[in-house]
Amino acid sequence: MNVLVINAGSSSLKYQLFDMDTETVVAKGVCERIGIDGRLTHKPVSNGKPEFKAELPLPTHAEAINAVIEKLTSPEYGVISSLKEIGAVGHRVLHGGQKFSESVLINDTVIAAITECIPLGPLHNPANLMGIKACQKVMPGVPQVAVFDTAFHQTMPKHAYIYPIPYSYYEKYGLRRYGFHGTSHRYVSKIALEMLGIPAAGSRLITCHLGNGSSLAAVKDGKCVDTTMGLSPLEGLPMGTRSGSIDPTILSVMAANEGLTINQILDVLNKESGVLGVSGVSSDFRDIEQAAHEGNARAELALDIFDYDVKKYIGAYMAAMGGADAIVFTAGLGENGPETRERIVAGLEPLGICIDKEQNNVRGQQRDITGKGSKVKVFVIPTNEELVIARDTKEIVGK
Ligand code: AMP
Repeated sequence: MNVLVINAGSSSLKYQLFDMDTETVVAKGVCERIGIDGRLTHKPVSNGKPEFKAELPLPTHAEAINAVIEKLTSPEYGVISSLKEIGAVGHRVLHGGQKFSESVLINDTVIAAITECIPLGPLHNPANLMGIKACQKVMPGVPQVAVFDTAFHQTMPKHAYIYPIPYSYYEKYGLRRYGFHGTSHRYVSKIALEMLGIPAAGSRLITCHLGNGSSLAAVKDGKCVDTTMGLSPLEGLPMGTRSGSIDPTILSVMAANEGLTINQILDVLNKESGVLGVSGVSSDFRDIEQAAHEGNARAELALDIFDYDVKKYIGAYMAAMGGADAIVFTAGLGENGPETRERIVAGLEPLGICIDKEQNNVRGQQRDITGKGSKVKVFVIPTNEELVIARDTKEIVGK
C-alpha cells in the first residue's frame, strides 16, 4: 500500500509518498508560497527520474494537492501510474486538544473536533484543515487519517498539565499543558527501549527533540509524564526564534513601553526571540556556533542559555521520574550537533551521565554515545515523524 503523508502549513504543503510494503519513501516534495505566487519542488526518490522545481500558480491548497498528484503520476517525474495507487493519506495535525490521545480516521466528527481546537492552535490547525479538505476534494473516497502532535502527551498526569492559575480557565477554555512533537518523542522513545533491550514497564527515558523548535519529554513506562512545551509550542526551552518560558510580566512592560498589542508581542516571542533574539546572528545553530567560534559574545551567550536550559530540564525530569535509563537526542540539532550534546551533558557526571567524545562525533546516525562508567545511557536517534504518520495511517485504514 502507498500512503501519502501531508504536512500542511498556511502557505506551504510538504509531502512524502511511502511504499508501506518496504516502508520506504518513493517521492517527496514541497509546495511553497500557496496563495502567493506558488512554487513546487518534487523529488522522485525510487526510480531515478529527475527532480521538478518550478513556479506555478497555487491559489489554494486544493491546487497544491492537484499539482502534487499530477507530478506523482506524470510520465516524466512520476512514481505511480494513477491516483488509484494511493491507498490512504496521513495528515500531521498540530493540536488535538483533549479530544485525541491517538491517531484517528478522519470523518465529519473528527473535522468538527479539529475545528473546535482552532483556538488552541490558531496558527496551525486552520492550515491542517485546509490540507485535509483539499485532499477530500481532489481524492474523494481515499481514506484519510489525522496524526496529532499533542496525542502522545495526553498521558501526562494532572499535576504536570494543570497551570497554577484559577482552575476555571482550564474548565472554561481548556488552558493547560498539551505538549508538541509527540510523534517524534513517541518514535524515538520506542527505538530507545529497543536499544536498551528493556520493556516499557519500569523504564524511564528523557527524549530531547532539539531543532528549530525544541522540546523535552519525560517518558515513564513508555508513556509521557511531562513535557516542556505547553498550551502552545511557545513554552519551555528557548528555540530558534521562540523565547520559551519567560516571566509573563515582561509582556506588560513590552506593551507599556513599545505600544505593542498582545498579538504583536506574541509575534516577537514566536519569531524574533530565542537564540536569534539573544545572538542577533541567526536562528540556525550552525550560524550561531560559527559566530561563537569567531568570538561573538552574544552568540556564545545564546548557546549558553540554550544548553543550560536543556541541562536544567534533564535534571528536573530525572527528579520527576526518580532517575533515567537513557537520554535521547533527536531532530536537526540533537542529531547533528555534537558540540551541543557535549555542552548539555557537561558536568552531569554526579547524576551518572557522561558521553564518549569519539562516539559523540556523529551526525544523523543512530548511535549509543554513552561514556565509560555512565549509569545513564545516552543515544542519538534520528527521528522520522513522517514514517510514524504513514505507519499509523496504514494501521488505521487496515482495521
Ligand atoms: P529541525 O527543526 O529539526 O529541522 O532542526 C533545525 C536545526 O538543526 C537548525 O537550527 C540547524 O542549525 C540545526 N542543525 C542542522 N544540522 C546541523 C549541524 N550539522 N550542526 C549544528 N546544527 C545543525
